[in-house]
Amino acid sequence: MAQLSTHADGLVLTIEQAAERAAERVAAVAGIETVALAAADGRVLAQDVVAPLDLPPFANSAVDGYAVRFADLAASGETRLPVSGRVPAGTDAAGVTTAGMAVRVFTGAPMPPDADTVFMQEDVKLEAGTVRLPAGLKRGANARAAGEDLPRGQTALAAGRCLRPQDLALLAALGVTEVAVRRRVRVAIFSTGDELSEPGVSLSPAGIYDANRSLLRALVVRAGAEIVDLGILRDEPESLAERLREAAADCDLILTSGGVSAGEEDHVKAAVERAGELAFWRVAIKPGRPVAMGLVAGTPFIGLPGNPVAVFVTFAFLARTVIALLAGTKPAPLLGLPVRLGFPYSKKVGRREYVRVSLVPGPDGVAVARKHPRDGAGALISLTESDGLVELADELTVVAEGTIAPFLAYEMLTG
Ligand code: AMP
Ligand code: MG
Repeated sequence: MAQLSTHADGLVLTIEQAAERAAERVAAVAGIETVALAAADGRVLAQDVVAPLDLPPFANSAVDGYAVRFADLAASGETRLPVSGRVPAGTDAAGVTTAGMAVRVFTGAPMPPDADTVFMQEDVKLEAGTVRLPAGLKRGANARAAGEDLPRGQTALAAGRCLRPQDLALLAALGVTEVAVRRRVRVAIFSTGDELSEPGVSLSPAGIYDANRSLLRALVVRAGAEIVDLGILRDEPESLAERLREAAADCDLILTSGGVSAGEEDHVKAAVERAGELAFWRVAIKPGRPVAMGLVAGTPFIGLPGNPVAVFVTFAFLARTVIALLAGTKPAPLLGLPVRLGFPYSKKVGRREYVRVSLVPGPDGVAVARKHPRDGAGALISLTESDGLVELADELTVVAEGTIAPFLAYEMLTG
C-alpha cells in the first residue's frame, strides 16, 4: 500500500486508508426487525439461518427414467430388467421395491427405498414390459441424496449477509417464511451551493440545477438505505453547522456534496469542525480528491465533492462501504475484470484514477475499453454515455494503449 503522502495543506490518504479510517468510526445499527421473505430482498440478516431440514429433503431422481439397484446390473454388458411400478414427482415411494426390477421414475420423484441408480429414459430401450439398460453407468448416477446440497443443522446463510434473490429461494426451499434483519440505515442527504436550484424552478443567470441529490437519492436507495432528503443548503458556515447537528440527531449517516475543497467559499469542512470532528478530507482518487469524513455529534458524516462525476466515484468507493458497515454487512469486494485499454493514458503517481469507458468486443476475446471523450469531473454526459470505470493503480504514470487494466461495470458500483 502506498505511504501516506502530504499535500500542501493536509494529509492525503489512499482509498484503502480512507475506508479504514472511516470504518473505525462506524458501527452497525442495533435495531432488528422481522420481515416476511417477500420483503427481504436486499436486507441484511441479523442472525444466522440454520437449515431446519435436509436439502433435498429426501433422496430423489434427477431425471425422467428408470430406477434400479446397482447390484442388479450385470458386471459387464447390457442388463435387461422387467419394468414394474411408476413413481411421479409428489408421490410416496415408501412401499415400492426395485429388487430385480426397474421402476419408472420422474424428475424430483422420491427414489424407491432400495434403489440407488437411475437410467435416463433417453438411454434405454423398452421392449415388451422390459427395459434394456446399457453398460457403463456408475452407482448412484442420476440420483440425489437427502441433504447432499445442505444437511439439516448446517448454517444456510450467515448473519451479515445482504440477501439476494437466490438467498430468498434457498430460504423458501428450507420452509422459512420470515427472517430477522437489521433495520434500514437512515441517510440524510443535502447539497450545498449558492448556485444551485431545484429542477422545476427557473434558473438564475449564474445558476445550475442540483444534479447531485438526484444521483445520491438513487444511489442510497440502491445501497439499501432510507433517505432523509434535506434539500439544498446555502454556502454559509453557521447555518450549515446547525443543519448538520439537526441531521445527526435523526440519521445514521450524513451525506453532503460540494463545499469540501480548499476554496474560501467551501464551508462544509468548517461547519463539520464546528459541529463535530473531521477525520480526513483528502483522498488520492481522481475524480474526487476532496472527500471529507468525520463525525457530527457521534454520527458519521461524509462530505462528497461537488462535481457530479466525483460524487459518483467517491460514493462508490467510500460512501457505499460506510453504508454497508452501518447496515451490518460488507460490500462485495470490487474486483475489476480485465479489459484492454483502447487508448494511451498518463496520470500522476500516487493517485488512483478512474477513467470512464465503454466496452467493445476485442479480436482475441478480451474486451477493449474506449475512453469517453469528455473527462471532466463535472461532465455528467460522460457517465450516461459509458459502461463503467477502468481503474489505474496508484503507482502508474504512463499507461500504453493495449495495457490490460481492471474494469468495474456501473452495475457493480451501484448495487
Ligand atoms: P464545490 O466543491 O462546491 O466547489 O463544487 C464543485 C463544482 O461542482 C462546481 O462547479 C459546482 O457548481 C458543482 N456542483 C456542486 N454541487 C452540485 C450539485 N448539487 N449539482 C450539480 N453540480 C454541483
Ligand atoms: Mg460549492
